[in-house]
Amino acid sequence: MIITVSRSADLGQVRRTLAGLGLWVAAPERRDDGDTLLVVQSSSTSIELDLIRAVPGVVGISKPESAHPRVDGHGPVAVVGKRSVSRDEPILISGPCSVESPEQIERIARSLREKGVTFLRGGAFKPRTSPYAFQGRGPDALSWLRAAADACGMAVVTEVLSEHDVSTVAEHAEVLQIGSRNMHNYALLKAVGKVGKPVLLKRSMAATVEEWLLAGEYLLSHGSGSVMFCERGVRTFDETTRNLLDLGAVALLAHVHNLPVIVDPSHGTGRRDLIVPLARAALAAGAAGVMIEVHDRPEEAQSDAPQALHPDALAPVLSSLRGAS
Ligand code: PEP
Ligand code: MN
Repeated sequence: MIITVSRSADLGQVRRTLAGLGLWVAAPERRDDGDTLLVVQSSSTSIELDLIRAVPGVVGISKPESAHPRVDGHGPVAVVGKRSVSRDEPILISGPCSVESPEQIERIARSLREKGVTFLRGGAFKPRTSPYAFQGRGPDALSWLRAAADACGMAVVTEVLSEHDVSTVAEHAEVLQIGSRNMHNYALLKAVGKVGKPVLLKRSMAATVEEWLLAGEYLLSHGSGSVMFCERGVRTFDETTRNLLDLGAVALLAHVHNLPVIVDPSHGTGRRDLIVPLARAALAAGAAGVMIEVHDRPEEAQSDAPQALHPDALAPVLSSLRGAS
């Protein structure tokens, strides 16, 4: 952002006032007409432009055009049916990594619903690194997931892996999930956008924040009404945890870009013992919700067993959520 300061103003005073508002400005540049330009660093505190305009001596503000105007205008609330999701009303999305059978998903849905969870997530189409790993039960699993959610009065969140499945998944789910591996699949983003339903957009494991925001722009510019940005950890040199959960990016999106962010500490850590503390840290960082994988027989989970929590282990997360809202 560039702030123009009138030539008659006390430049030192203007700079001190801006600094008091949390703005960092680079060295002043004198313009030919005598006014001065102050360049505000992007790491400054985000504030209402009107507060800057009100500073005596400020005569203009210009912002370089953003590459993602729709994301900039999205705001902190995602609307899912009658529900508003934001950091003032954070949610828990939970369910098994994979929907394995009608009985399994119904048992898990019931136990989650008893605890007050209203968003049921389960995978029908699984993006597995190995073609020999369990790939999900496909369209049958979508019907089982829908039936379990209906029996318990829950909303469905599930991943759409391919353009071919967009309409089928949209018929069964309130929220369509774009997985990490598909964040850069622009044909899929366009097709999902056209459906107009809320989307949970996972960050690619190697995406910059700007690339993630631009993926959101694809969705919003093609028709999505609400996008929840899901941080699920990025790849680094260290393999101690499955990924590095980027809570700095969570705070950035929540507090600077003013967007709804969901944090997935299950894939972020890959370890059941770290999920609850990181879920709480995510809420403290400004998340509008957390997504946690559970299984009522965690050691038997057909995918991601090492990170599967028993639903009873969610109690501390639920109390943090109640404290936040
Ligand atoms: C998932 O959410 O089940 C999943 C596969 O996660 P990600 O796309 O983040 O790897
Ligand atoms: Mn999983």
